[in-house]
Amino acid sequence: ASTNRELDNGIEEEISNGADSLKEPISNEMLTIGLSMDTIEEERWLKDRDMFVEAVEKLGARVEVKTANGNDALQISQAETLISQGIDLLVLVPHNAEASTTIVGKAQMADIPVVSYDRLVKNANIDLYISFDNEQIGVLQAEAMTKIVPKGNYVYIGGPVTDNNALLMREGVYSVLQPYIERGDITVVYDQWTDAWLPINAKKNMQAALEVNGDQIDAVIAANDATAGAAYDALEEYGLSGEIPIVGQDAELLGLQRIVNGGQIMTVYKSIKALTEQAAEISVQMARGETIETDLTINNGKKDVPTVLLTPVAVTKDNIEETVIADGFHEAEDIFQ
Ligand code: BGC
Repeated sequence: ASTNRELDNGIEEEISNGADSLKEPISNEMLTIGLSMDTIEEERWLKDRDMFVEAVEKLGARVEVKTANGNDALQISQAETLISQGIDLLVLVPHNAEASTTIVGKAQMADIPVVSYDRLVKNANIDLYISFDNEQIGVLQAEAMTKIVPKGNYVYIGGPVTDNNALLMREGVYSVLQPYIERGDITVVYDQWTDAWLPINAKKNMQAALEVNGDQIDAVIAANDATAGAAYDALEEYGLSGEIPIVGQDAELLGLQRIVNGGQIMTVYKSIKALTEQAAEISVQMARGETIETDLTINNGKKDVPTVLLTPVAVTKDNIEETVIADGFHEAEDIFQ
């Protein structure tokens, strides 16, 4: 028996040192998914990380996580480390839609498939894209706002131009606002990208809008709840918080608390549970070498990428219970304080 064991070990050694070992792990070796994240700054990303790891582990594989703190060079070097560690698949949340193309190239050279998670990597040979319908997020925000403010001066605090989601959300917002603008009912008096999604930059943008327009602002559409919170802080300095409606995105606890307290009128809920579970399932299947068929493809400038898009949900004071609370995304006692 001992000879057999030695023989087995010898064979295993040979296989794991072989060039093919990355692509075809031997059956008793656990699959490893690399997760390269831009940031864990917003509340949602902690959920993404923890729920993705949990979902992958339930499927019998493991996850190696790296977070780049919004630094492109760091994200590239962290991804290189993951690739050299021999991960079976890379799940990538790009900080920068274009700069992260480098990462995809390196993964491809090592024969490691790449899933673009939540944010699209542009002009790269990614294997799959999974996200929410980001244009629809902008549509929901602008619909909620035009319902309450059908006429007036609008401020748009966008995300960064380096995040494809920010571009899509902006398109969604303007698709709704356009007829109002053409009729002369709505004027967008300020519209600016928020570098790196940072609240400090969003606050500066809102301050700039206030400097020029003072209290002649009737509505603020912010790309997410973190930037909405920053806009709220800037309005507070002008004694205008609670007076001017704000919308955001992510159903963050602070955003929901502002909704309950009248500081914000809506947010957009994206089920991170659904996203992580589907992403985990797809990633583990792909890591095993299976091909994933999707109904949808999206062109990222390089190819038609098989795509899975989940549906975002508008949340106002009226449906907090049946959305985020019913889903266990937040506890009622934390929201209604
Ligand atoms: C995500 C948002 C998030 C933002 C900032 C976007 O790409 O879709 O949910 O708030 O990045 O991290």
